[in-house]
Amino acid sequence: MRTLGVLGGMSWTSTASYYRLLNEGVVARLGGLHSAQLLLHSVDFDPVAKAQHDGDWDATVAILARAAEGLARGGAEALLVATNTMHKVADELQQASGLPLLHIADSTADAIVADGVSRVGLLATAFTMEQDFYVGRLRAKGLEVIVPDAPQRAEVHRIIYDELCLDVVLDESRAAYRDVMASLVERGAQAVILGCTEITLLVSEQDSSVPLYDTTRIHADAGVDFMLG
Ligand code: GLU
Repeated sequence: MRTLGVLGGMSWTSTASYYRLLNEGVVARLGGLHSAQLLLHSVDFDPVAKAQHDGDWDATVAILARAAEGLARGGAEALLVATNTMHKVADELQQASGLPLLHIADSTADAIVADGVSRVGLLATAFTMEQDFYVGRLRAKGLEVIVPDAPQRAEVHRIIYDELCLDVVLDESRAAYRDVMASLVERGAQAVILGCTEITLLVSEQDSSVPLYDTTRIHADAGVDFMLG
């Protein structure tokens, strides 16, 4: 098995999901007592999140590049950055570590395109929904991307940072997400990307009239493919 380097802690609630999915994926394929061979560097999220909200992406690179280098020094053979948002600095982290990077947007877009879907809604942090680093990457794969309107984006973002990253899962927030997904479908979305790795804690297929693409699961599957490839 090849060793996967996981850069996590953003937030820890989603890294816990990744850890479970990576191990479940390996045992599903190999059976027995097999489990995922990985290194995990789980950062303190508070300074990273503060830098994001200050627009100081260099400060996020300073924290994460050091962690990525450490994963490479420790023997990781590929890098999985366990968050959509921090793919904003994916190139910098790939360079710092010298490792191949399993890009979450590429894996997600490939899964959607393979299903013959072309118009997708996106739920994510404001950074991911509003900046080009993620939506542009999906568009480059031929997808049309629909994001919620500004008040909805603010609410989706707030629920991620004020609740899901703190392991708080509320029915009223699930209802809010259901409404946002319904309006994306009304605007033509054939499927919705859960483009933030905590959202799968809140909603599932039963909350949506169209298929959901869970980036945490898709990305973890890519990690399993790497380890066993
Ligand atoms: N985990 C989230 C994501 O997938 C948000 C936390 C972060 O900013 O990294 O985007």
